[in-house]
This record gives sequence, C-alpha cells and structure tokens, in this order.
Amino acid sequence: MLRSLNLHTVCEDARCPNIGECFLRRTATFMILGDICTRNCRYCAIPSGIPAHVDPAEPRHLAHAAKELGLAHVVITSVTRDDLDDGGASQFVACIHELRKVLPKSSIEILIPDFEANPDVLNIVIDAKPEIINHNVETVTSLYPIVRPMADYKRSLNVLHYIKQKERNIYTKSGIMLGLGESEDEVFALFDDLLEVECDMLTIGQYLPPSRNHAHLMEYIRPEVFDRYKQIALKKGFRYVASGPYIRSSYNAIEGINKMSE
Ligand code: SF4
Repeated sequence: MLRSLNLHTVCEDARCPNIGECFLRRTATFMILGDICTRNCRYCAIPSGIPAHVDPAEPRHLAHAAKELGLAHVVITSVTRDDLDDGGASQFVACIHELRKVLPKSSIEILIPDFEANPDVLNIVIDAKPEIINHNVETVTSLYPIVRPMADYKRSLNVLHYIKQKERNIYTKSGIMLGLGESEDEVFALFDDLLEVECDMLTIGQYLPPSRNHAHLMEYIRPEVFDRYKQIALKKGFRYVASGPYIRSSYNAIEGINKMSE
C-alpha cells in the first residue's frame, strides 16, 4: 500500500529496529516531503542531498493509508526541507486537513524539524491544532557540533517554548538518544532545559549507528539505567516519559496521547 500510494515511512527510511513489531500492529510513522533531507545529522540513516519536488497528492494519499490502517493516532514526520520557503509546514497542514476529513476521531501527532525557529512558519502548524507537536532535541548540547552540525540546541528549545506559549492546549514532546557519549549530568541538565520550556512529554532511546560512516556508538546503556532516567524525569515534572533501549519518538505513540488524556 505504501508503495502504490508513493508514501514514505521513517520506519523504513531511518531503519528503525521496531519495524517488525510496529508494522505487525499495522502502525507506521509517515514521513512526508520526500526521502532526501537538506541537513546532514551524523546519526541519521536518511540521505542528505537535493530533495524531490513536493507531491501535491501526498496529503490525500497519506489520509487514505491512515484510514485503511484504521489508525486511532496518526504520527507524521518529515525530512528537513530548508530549501522550501515554509520548510514544508503547509504540507504538514494539508495532511492534517485531509486526515481530519477521513478520520475525524483520530488524534494527530506531528514530529517537526526546527523550521529554523521561524515564528511565522511555526504558526502555520500550530494553527492546524494537531494534538501533539514533537520536536526532538536528540542529544545533549555539547554533542551538537559533532552529531547535529546544522542544528542548534537552543534553537530547538526555542521551538518547543514558542509552541507552548502560543497554544497551551497542544502537548509538546521531545526525544533524545543515549549512547553518543553524553554524561549523566548532561542528561539531567537536558531534562531541566526541556522542563524550563514546559515540554510535556519525553522519549529516551538507545542510539544505534546506521552504518560505520555515522556517529560512533560510545555506549550501550543498560535497561535499568533507562528505567532510572524515566523515574527521575517523571519526578522532575514530565507528564509522560517512555524510556528504554528500543524507544523511539513514535514508538507506541498512542500510549502517550492516552496517558495525557487521562
Ligand atoms: S517505532 Fe516509530 S519509526 Fe520505529 S517502526 Fe515503530 S512507528 Fe516506525
């Protein structure tokens, strides 16, 4: 179905280790705006280069696929499109509108790039009122020059802050990978930074290098350490935390929205 509708998923393109489980459960995270990214993050399997034209049929196709799968919670992400004036924000909105038409009761989560923290662009997606807007900070600030050379830690925090200030009813969510060489103190400082910008939800997972040419794996984090981070993050004030070696931003995302709605 994905092939015939010309749709991409981050599950396949980012070589997610959970793909067997998620596809078996008939869930997937749609990745819009093509499969070529304009950035070059060193942990990511998605190729960097000159992206394809935006497909005007993509929102309709995505909605069709979500309906066929009967998704109660739809997660949409994209490659970063610094080449587009609005970073692709209007394509996110077109997808949300098409989804609302065919699945009016389903919740929608969008996992956005930083849109260069441009308020005019962020307003486009905020005004479409998805239930959750996720923007991953991915790693601690000291590792940005090594693993996210074209991104900026503070800018990502500003994105989350702006969304919450503008629309308090949208849940904000962020995620990080462990095992890139971060220290525990840096992780705790990151928790504090996210809480400072009133981020509601947090995911913590293990970094797995897609190839030998990507950022090196520095450490496998033990499952009990993930559990400890979860307890500490909840104690510090996050409303929802998923933490474990195979946790990804979109893993079992429906659990997050259900928890927030309790
Ligand atoms: S965890 Fe997310 S990206 Fe990975 S297979 Fe599941 S839905 Fe796809």
